[in-house]
Amino acid sequence: MPGIPVTQATDNPSPGSRYVGRFAPSPTGPLHIGSLTTAVASYLHARQSGGEWLLRIEDIDPPREVAGASERILAALDALELHWDRPVLYQSSRLEIYKEAARQLFGAGLAYRCSCSRSQLRAKGATRYPGICRTRTTHDGPTALRARVDDAGESFVDDLQGVVRSTLRESTGDFVIVRRDGLPAYHLAAVLDDAFQGVTTIVRGTDLLDTTAAHGHLRKLLNLPDPRYLHVPVIVNARDRKLSKQTGARGVDIGASAELAATALDYLGAPIPDDLRGARPAELWTWARQHWSVESLKGMRSIRER
Ligand code: GLU
Repeated sequence: MPGIPVTQATDNPSPGSRYVGRFAPSPTGPLHIGSLTTAVASYLHARQSGGEWLLRIEDIDPPREVAGASERILAALDALELHWDRPVLYQSSRLEIYKEAARQLFGAGLAYRCSCSRSQLRAKGATRYPGICRTRTTHDGPTALRARVDDAGESFVDDLQGVVRSTLRESTGDFVIVRRDGLPAYHLAAVLDDAFQGVTTIVRGTDLLDTTAAHGHLRKLLNLPDPRYLHVPVIVNARDRKLSKQTGARGVDIGASAELAATALDYLGAPIPDDLRGARPAELWTWARQHWSVESLKGMRSIRER
């Protein structure tokens, strides 16, 4: 499939010249020890690489957003002295950009309208989109926009997890880039923003490994550069479920930032020495920059909650 050029200025003051990393939480709840540990891995790796570390708030899903969550996330990162570079990027400020890219994909025949509802698809027992609207030209009611996928498999090399292969046709089918309620889907917004911010290296949780194929596909369609990926293990509970709001993870207590920083480093396999107990987070990060390596997480998909 041919790519289409998306002309957009970059937010990166020195495009292409060095490491740019990011942390991109969705404000659907406060940071918990799981998301905080991912943030720490991403922060330390960026700093060890002499790079920038950006913060992007992925607030494009108002129905799932929790009032005040963005502010609480920022306050927690600040209390933990995980200082980001450049102003925070709020995805809600870029809705027009996402819509324009979706229009271009539609105009180029790389995406199509779909009026199937979730309940219809569930009733059909579809685990991936079966392509019902691929050739449909008229629709009743609201429509989503789906990116066409092809039979070609997607594969990429993750610096920690090795070669990851998938075939979108088999895993998701044509996937949604604009929802039926008109909101842009995460996949589209994320790839556009990673390119806009000049992100070169994405350090995030293994729970998102499966989304990488869709992101790679969209980047190909939009002629955007591929970043490097390092998917770090996520913290799971005794039933092997990722810590999240759904599994009852509590928000971090920012009054105890030194303990939190030490706990995150413990999870990452860098227990702090006794003489650093009670030290400020910034001191722990300085120590960790010298004593921790992301390589120690190679091949690990999850870490059991302690
Ligand atoms: N906003 C996503 C989340 O909170 C993360 C997206 C990403 O890192 O690509 O799960």
